[in-house]
Amino acid sequence: MAELTSLLKEGRIFYPPQEGKDQAYISSRYKYKQIYQYSLDDPDEFWAERAKELITWFKYWDRTCYWDFYKPEIKFFEGGKLNACFNCVDRHLDNPAIKNKAAIIWQGEPDRDTKVYTYHMLHSEICKFAKILKNLGVEKGDRVTIYLPTMPEAVAAMLACARIGAIHSVVFGGFSSEALKVRILDAQAKVVITCDGTYRGGRRITLLDRAEEAIRDCDCVEHCIVLNRFGDPIELKDNRCILYDDLKKDLSVAEYCEYEVMDAEDPLFILYTSGTTGKPKGVYHTTGGYLVYAAHTTQWVFDLKPDDIYWCTADIGWITGHSYVVYGPLALGATVFMYEGVPTYPNPGRWWELVDRYGITILYTAPTAIRVLMREGDQWPKKYNLSSLRILGTVGEPINPEAWVWFYVNVGRKRCPVVDTWWQTETGGHMIAPIPFAVPQKPGSATYPLPGVEPVILRADGTEADINEGGHLCIKRAWPGMARGVWGDEKRFKEVYFSRFPGYYYTGDGARKDEDGYFWIMGRLDDVINVSGHRLGTMELESAFVEHPAVAEAAVVGFPHDIKGEGIFAYIVLKEGFDPTSELKKELVSHIRKVIGPIATPDFILFAPGLPKTRSGKIMRRILRKIAAQQFEDLGDTSTLAEPEVVEKLVDLRKNLK
Ligand code: ATP
Ligand code: MG
Repeated sequence: MAELTSLLKEGRIFYPPQEGKDQAYISSRYKYKQIYQYSLDDPDEFWAERAKELITWFKYWDRTCYWDFYKPEIKFFEGGKLNACFNCVDRHLDNPAIKNKAAIIWQGEPDRDTKVYTYHMLHSEICKFAKILKNLGVEKGDRVTIYLPTMPEAVAAMLACARIGAIHSVVFGGFSSEALKVRILDAQAKVVITCDGTYRGGRRITLLDRAEEAIRDCDCVEHCIVLNRFGDPIELKDNRCILYDDLKKDLSVAEYCEYEVMDAEDPLFILYTSGTTGKPKGVYHTTGGYLVYAAHTTQWVFDLKPDDIYWCTADIGWITGHSYVVYGPLALGATVFMYEGVPTYPNPGRWWELVDRYGITILYTAPTAIRVLMREGDQWPKKYNLSSLRILGTVGEPINPEAWVWFYVNVGRKRCPVVDTWWQTETGGHMIAPIPFAVPQKPGSATYPLPGVEPVILRADGTEADINEGGHLCIKRAWPGMARGVWGDEKRFKEVYFSRFPGYYYTGDGARKDEDGYFWIMGRLDDVINVSGHRLGTMELESAFVEHPAVAEAAVVGFPHDIKGEGIFAYIVLKEGFDPTSELKKELVSHIRKVIGPIATPDFILFAPGLPKTRSGKIMRRILRKIAAQQFEDLGDTSTLAEPEVVEKLVDLRKNLK
C-alpha cells in the first residue's frame, strides 16, 4: 500500500510572547526538551513525581507504571488509594485562598440567568447529590447515566458519582432518545440523571421527554432524577422519575456524605467516542491514572494559574468536557467558566462579549466553532475588549492554518499562544500539543509530544516512516490517562487499538513529522483519498481551500473514478457575501492547482449550505463520501449527526450536479 503523500506547505512560525514567559511552568524549548527526555528515560520517577505533586493520595502505590500492549493490559499507580471528588473539591476547602473562590461561574443563554458556585458551595451541592444517590441504592461500581446540558449541577452530578465510587456515563444532551437508550443499555445504568431542558439559539429544548422515552425500554433503570433548569413546574410521566428538588428537601443544609476510598485502577467513568467513523465505543477510564493525567496536562498545556478565569467551550458530554471542564481544572483549584448557549446567538459576537464581560484568560475551543465565527467576519471580535486573554486552544479536528491564524490575529490579537491539542477520548488527555510559552507554534501543527508520550509514524509494513513521510500515528508506550478498555467488550479494545501494529497503540489518524520534529495530523486514515496511487490526507486539501478568501469551510472526500481510482469531491461552504457562481468554481480549481499542484485538481465542487457534522462538531466525511458516490440509500449510522436536514439538501444538490 502506498504511503500518505503530504501536500501542505506551511512555513509560518509564531514564537511565544515574552510576556508571561517568566511566570510559566515551562518557559523555554530547552526546558521542555530536558523534561521530555527525562520522562522517557525514567517514566517511573517522572510519573511518580507528577502524581505526588498534583494529587492527594490516601495511600501511595506499589508499582508506578506497568503495560503490555500485546495482551493488552495497562496499569498505573497500582495499589494507590484516592478519591477523584476529594481531589477536585474537599482538599481545596483547607486552603483559605481557594475555599471561597469561584469554582464555577455559569452564564445561561438568557442573560439574566447566572450562577456562581464557590468551592465550598460546590462541595455542599455534591454531598447532597451523593447522599441522594446513596439513598436511592447506588453503590460503588454501579453505573449512572447523566443526560444534562451545560449547567453547574451536571458537574456536581459527575463528582457525586466519583465521590461514592459509582461510574458515570455522561451522554451529550443533544443526543436523541434512541442514542441515549443505546448508551444506557450498553452501560446497564441503574440511575439516569436529567432535567427539564435547556436554552439553545433562543429556543427551549426539552430533555425530559427524550429521557423518558429512552428509559421506557430500559429495565435496568431503577430511578430517574430530574433537575429543574427552567424554574417551572415539571410534569413527570414515567413513575421511576423523581424531582431532584424533592429529594433534596429531606436533607439538611449542611448534609455531609462520606467519600469512598478508591483504588487507582477502579473505573471512574465510561464515555462513548464521538462516533465520527462508526458505532461509538464506550471506553472507560480509571481513577488514579486518568486524574493525574488530566491535572498534569491542564497545568502544563494551559499554563493554568490560580487567578486564571478558564473557559473550555466543550460540552461535558465529550471527553474534552470531562478532562478540561471538570477533572483537570477543578483538581488544580481553578475558576471554570461555563456557558449554556451557542456561539452565534443572539449574534456572532456572543463569545467575545462573554470573554470581555468575565475577563476570560484562557479560551479552549474547536476548529469548527472558529471556522463558523470566522465566516461571520472580523467585525465581531473587533467590537470587544479581549485583552484579558492570554492563551488560546483548539481540539477536535485538525485546524486549518488559515483558521489558526484568524484565531491568533483576531481573537488573540497576536499576543496569545495557540495550543493545538491532538488527543482522543481514548487518550484521556492531551498527547501532542505545544507547551504554550516553550514551543514555537506552526499553524496546523500540534507541534511536539508532551512529556511521557512517545508517538511514532509507521508505514503500512510497520517500519518507521522518514521525515515528512505520512503514515499511521501510533504510540509506543503507555501513559497514565490511557483508556483501560471498551466497556463490556474487551475484544473490541484489542481489535481496534492493538492489532493493526502489534506492540503499539493505534490511533487511526494519519500524520507526518517534519524536519524540526513537529507533528502534522493529516486526518483520519479512513478518510484518506487515493488519487492515481497518491494517498492524500483530507485535512491538507481542505486547508488549501480555506486559504481562498471566499471559503469558510471545506470538506473533501474521494469517490470512485474510472481512471484515477478515486477522484476528489469538494463540498464548499462560502463566507458571507460570496455567491456560488461557475466563475468562482473555476477560480477555486485553479487556486488548488496553484497552491498544491495538479494532483489535487478537484473533479467536483459542490457549494453546500452547510456540512453534516457529529454532535461534537466534526465533519462526517463518511456520509459525504456516500453522497459524492451517489449512494443515497445507505447512508449508515446517522444517529450522532447534529443536523440531519443538511444531508437531504446535499443529496438534492448532488443529484443536480453536473
Ligand atoms: P470515533 O472514534 O467514534 O470515530 P472520534 O474519533 O471523532 O469518534 P473523539 O475521541 O472525540 O472521537 O475524537 C478524537 C479524534 O479527533 C482524533 O483521533 C482525531 O482524528 C481528531 N482530533 C482531535 N484533536 C485533533 C487535533 N488537534 N488535530 C487533529 N485532529 C484532531
Ligand atoms: Mg476515534
